Amino acid sequence: MIRTARFAWMAALAALFACTPPPEPVSMGGVRPTDVGGSMVAPPRWGMVIHGGAGAMSPQSLSAERQAEYRAALTEALMAGHAVLARGGTSLDAVEAAVNVMEDNPLFNAGRGAVVTADGRIELDAAVMDGATLKAGAVAGLHTVRNPIDLARAVMERSPHVMMIGEGAETFARQNGLAMVEESYFWTPNRRQQWERMRMQDSLRADSAARAGRTSGYAMPDDRKWGTVGAVALDQHGNLAAGTSTGGMMMKRFGRVGDVPIVGAGTYANNRSCAVSATGHGEFFIRNVVAHSICALMEYGGLPLQAAADSIVMRQLVAQRGEGGVIAMDRQGNWTMPFNSTGMFRGRIGADGRPEVAIFRD
Ligand code: ASP
Repeated sequence: MIRTARFAWMAALAALFACTPPPEPVSMGGVRPTDVGGSMVAPPRWGMVIHGGAGAMSPQSLSAERQAEYRAALTEALMAGHAVLARGGTSLDAVEAAVNVMEDNPLFNAGRGAVVTADGRIELDAAVMDGATLKAGAVAGLHTVRNPIDLARAVMERSPHVMMIGEGAETFARQNGLAMVEESYFWTPNRRQQWERMRMQDSLRADSAARAGRTSGYAMPDDRKWGTVGAVALDQHGNLAAGTSTGGMMMKRFGRVGDVPIVGAGTYANNRSCAVSATGHGEFFIRNVVAHSICALMEYGGLPLQAAADSIVMRQLVAQRGEGGVIAMDRQGNWTMPFNSTGMFRGRIGADGRPEVAIFRD
């Protein structure tokens, strides 16, 4: 009764979201259960959904060869997660396995191939959450931990804490025997080129601002190179988990930390509702506590998964021009991947072991 009263406003909000049609030009959700073979199919009991970042990609901006590389990488990540789930492994292990594959692949903005800060550093963030226990682990500002998602999991399982940052987190990684690398390991020729180009643009901006007697401010470049990776899974035991890993945003400054390691913003899992991993302009995902809001709309507002995710990604974020998307799964095995950008690297796999991947709004 008390609970009902306390969350009555949420139910009202949920009802409002459910009744309000989405604004036409921006309704661009991801692959849905109804998309499979063009007809409604029963969702798989267990499975996994992944993303490799959302952003302004288009068939014109991404060569056919590059698209094929992304599709192959997403498939490899899905198969790694599926192998764990198929043998009765936990959703946490499956999430970690899939994220590891993408962290190790320089195509993505996570682990090797991560974006670079304005100061020319690599600063990695990650988080993982167990929907069965609500335990969570998060790390931020890492320079030398090869797989940040592994450290997030170690924080969750081998420390009494939820979040560790910078030097302390790296010390904890070394103490726990995690794979450490030189910072140069993360740099790729592509990222170096992007960084040098953006640095040049920055200094031109600063020069012209100085000539006009203004400060150039700390605006983020338009070309943010999103490409964060994430996975959510439901295992054969009925448990949900979520994990996300990122280099953050290209040219980020002054110790900036995004939504990914903030539990409830970029990553959240709760067996009572759903598991969510986000990608996009992190500041908006933090302000809107995106991942937890989706779960709350389900748990307290009674919305089904897809309506809850669309409410936040396709309405609330769109209204604020907060670009990005999420992947989400509930305990019945329903899944959704809404995004309001032009593309999102994404994929899903169920008990049948058939991976499906997509990039654009197809
Ligand atoms: N959300 C990430 C961040 O803001 C970036 C991304 O998703 O690509 O750090």
